[in-house]
Amino acid sequence: MERADIVKLDKGHVWHPYTAMEAYIAGTDPLVISRAEGPYLFDVDGRRYLDANGSWWVSTLGHRHPRLLRALTEQAGQLPHVSLAGITHEPAAALASELVAMAPGADRPELPTGERLTRAFYSDNGSTAVEVAIKMTAQYWAQNGQPRRTRFITLSGAFHGETIGSTSVGGVPLFREVFGPLLFDVVHVPSPAEEGGWERAFAQVQAALREHPDEIAGVIVEPIIQGAAGMQMYSPDFLRAVREATRAVDTFLIADEVFTGLGRTGARFAVDLAGVVPDLLCLAKALSGGLMPFAVTLASERIFSGFLGASSRALYYGHSYCGNPLGAAVAREVLAVYRDEDVLGQVARKAPKVKAAFERMAATLPGLVRPRAIGMVGAVDLGGGGYLASSGWRVYEAARRRGLYLRPLGDTVYIAPALNIPDAALDELLAGVEDSLREVARG
Ligand SMILES: *Cc1c(COP(=O)(O)O)cnc(C)c1O
Repeated sequence: MERADIVKLDKGHVWHPYTAMEAYIAGTDPLVISRAEGPYLFDVDGRRYLDANGSWWVSTLGHRHPRLLRALTEQAGQLPHVSLAGITHEPAAALASELVAMAPGADRPELPTGERLTRAFYSDNGSTAVEVAIKMTAQYWAQNGQPRRTRFITLSGAFHGETIGSTSVGGVPLFREVFGPLLFDVVHVPSPAEEGGWERAFAQVQAALREHPDEIAGVIVEPIIQGAAGMQMYSPDFLRAVREATRAVDTFLIADEVFTGLGRTGARFAVDLAGVVPDLLCLAKALSGGLMPFAVTLASERIFSGFLGASSRALYYGHSYCGNPLGAAVAREVLAVYRDEDVLGQVARKAPKVKAAFERMAATLPGLVRPRAIGMVGAVDLGGGGYLASSGWRVYEAARRRGLYLRPLGDTVYIAPALNIPDAALDELLAGVEDSLREVARG
């Protein structure tokens, strides 16, 4: 199909995610992508674009990694799908044991059994991984003697997904407001990334825990980086403090590692940077490397045990594709590639370059504030306009002309590329971001 024909069908019939459709139909000349390879996307006319955000944060091993493709096709030839309700298959079983073996705390023999992440519950995407964590938490307390524990503490700016449950624990006002009446009540505290430091946010977590000692079901966080809030980064000290405080009143810590999990920050899990073991850990995005929608919620032995006994105590939850063999086979291969290609080592080597580049941009170009970086995430702000601010989109256009796909978050311009991006492509990406910002800064 020709480019114009695709765009015509698209504008006639597709309703795009996170897109103001009237402006899109009237004024957007969309990229029309037909192929991808490693860190690059190619459009129907053969133009090449560096994928600066790993196609919405999932493609951490680049596009069409040959080993992932092989795992997918081999599994497809054998068993593409079967339900996981009381029957099983090798990819789901083996992946669960691999995830549990690498989970935070797995290497700490002194941890009590109840605090270990010993069980993997599969679902389809990041939102459902969080939804599972919410329901597990609520049901655990309901049937284990503390039915008043129904409220979650959540951080300002938090993004945990799109279901009503995950939106309820979210903290981005624009995404919440319209659904206000449908959302359940949570306790909002400031983000530890805000001015005033993590101590201010923590003081409010403490206050909420003290005020409602037997009503808090759990504290949910995006550890170290609040992605959708604009790559807001905060100290591991906050996580350690929250872990201690939640233990002190015997409530749960839920780590939403849908964005940070599997090496984004340089550590396998962002909670590892704090040496913290959560009670529930949500993983998606990188887990299946951009090949399949796939997610997992890791649960502690204590939480799992709280669902044993009479059949009425079971977790009656599941999706058609829970633990589907294609996703599970790909995820196993993702973990194997991380080991064999030393992806964490690669991040450690490349991260200083990302950090230095964003610091240099902020130091040398006008109007740029708050350069920040951790692992393979680098970000800088163009003033403080929030999610709907427009200067980020001018950078998007400038980057596009230079062969970069660089979707901003409001006024935050960031990169979150494939973790195995070759050095030359990373140099090209950082130079392209800098040139694009320079063009927009000139006005
Ligand atoms: C993207 C994201 C989600 C939602 O994941 P989906 O797969 O888009 O549903 C949840 N939490 C965090 C931290 C995310 O970055």
